[in-house]
Amino acid sequence: MSGGRAQIGVTGLAVMGRNLARNFARNGYTVAVHNRTYGRTRDLVEQFGGEGDFVPAETAEEFVAALERPRRVMIMVKAGGPTDTVIEEFAELLEPGDVIIDGGNAHFEDTRRREAALRERGLHFVGTGVSGGEEGALNGPSIMPGGSPESYESLGPMLERIAARAPDGTPCTTHVGPDGAGHFVKMVHNGIEYADMQLIAEAYQLLRDVAGYAPDEIADIFRGWNEGRLGSYLIEITAEVLTHTDAATGAPFVDVVADRAEQKGTGRWTVQTALGLGTPVPGIAEAVFARSLSGHTELRTAASPLPGPQRTPMGRDEAADFADGVERSLYASKVISYAQGWDMIRAGSEEYDWHIDLSDVAAIWRAGCIIRARFLDRIRAAFTSDPWLPTLLADPEFAKELGEAQYAWRDVVAASVRNGVPAPGMSSALAYYDGLRAPRLPAALLQAQRDYFGAHTYQRTDREGTFHTLWGGDR
Ligand code: NAP
Repeated sequence: MSGGRAQIGVTGLAVMGRNLARNFARNGYTVAVHNRTYGRTRDLVEQFGGEGDFVPAETAEEFVAALERPRRVMIMVKAGGPTDTVIEEFAELLEPGDVIIDGGNAHFEDTRRREAALRERGLHFVGTGVSGGEEGALNGPSIMPGGSPESYESLGPMLERIAARAPDGTPCTTHVGPDGAGHFVKMVHNGIEYADMQLIAEAYQLLRDVAGYAPDEIADIFRGWNEGRLGSYLIEITAEVLTHTDAATGAPFVDVVADRAEQKGTGRWTVQTALGLGTPVPGIAEAVFARSLSGHTELRTAASPLPGPQRTPMGRDEAADFADGVERSLYASKVISYAQGWDMIRAGSEEYDWHIDLSDVAAIWRAGCIIRARFLDRIRAAFTSDPWLPTLLADPEFAKELGEAQYAWRDVVAASVRNGVPAPGMSSALAYYDGLRAPRLPAALLQAQRDYFGAHTYQRTDREGTFHTLWGGDR
């Protein structure tokens, strides 16, 4: 069977697939396009056919026949069962050496399973994270491909063409590692995104309820922060959201949105996986639980009569000082969340033997993705200068900044407690900072308790070995 002329095929043409297909076409590739329901394929070609060279296919067979060899088939369908269905449909039609790419939000364990099964059949399977939403897919996402090195040789140059570009011009994609490495890293990206958003939301609530600022004033504060070390996409859009007024009521938009946060599951996956790996990611866990708490209307209604503290309004100067402290607290807590995320990537890489380059991960998140931020350049530099850095907190520059921020950070967390404004992300980050730097932790007492009731044994500070004490009395 001779090959067709399309260099890549995209099947699944909802928002993400359609925009990725357009991105490939706009970058000069001939793109075969296919969707279970042909209407989407027809619409794509009718609306955007002028943007590049599309080859519409009505059936899976036509689609495969349109591709040059080795064939590259990118699947952009609903994650889970539908992805398995579509993989199976195409695996039947492909030949050894061809590459199937899953750009959906798959769980990395599913990707490992699919990669192993397809490898047996001689096919390459690339599970890839794609971040940046609909807009990123069209104009340049951050792309996190896993899979075999050979598959990256065939696919990488194309991904590098359509990916976002970091400020220094390098494409925001790299071969992350074998099998599920790409989807794992994308999962942790989303976990960090949860923590980032939670911290920003806490900063907003503290500025509003403790300092007494109005949403448009907070928007100005965020705009100012966006010019500095907190500069990031999420800070930028937060300022936009806080400026927005509801057309129907004239109220600040943020006041008309129901305060029940939703989650799609990747944050939860991150925490579940971290529990399995034994890696502490409390900042991400707090963010997932904060969303979950917000959604429990029945619990919140039942607890709403509980008393809180009296709040004393702040004067303008005090509020301005407090806002400065919130910036420090937000920045320090953000560094902690990223430190936890990177710990987790290292733990996953070791567990699954992926050899993920921690500095490259920072490099490919500098543009295109939701957590793109100025300070990712510094994380990249930290892991470039020391790939074995045990934690981001040990990097001299970050350590210095955290040390400088700590007093304001403690004041802000204390103010949140005094005023009854919950800041679980910032307080948890501070507890993590204090937990890691503490010379002694009460884990010593825990171990003694465990030995007391369960003969679990303990180790000593003064000599090697494992010990058990014969505790007195009946238990
Ligand atoms: P989606 O709503 O998740 O899925 C719709 C697409 O899946 C349609 O093309 C649909 O075909 C197809 N589909 C569903 N079940 C199918 C089945 N059993 N067999 C064949 N095709 C099936 O689309 P999306 O929002 O564009 O996302 C695509 C993937 O990218 C998902 O895995 C998503 O998690 C991931 N992702 C999304 C975003 C985002 O911001 N939306 C960001 C990153 C990653 P029909 O038209 O025939 O129904």
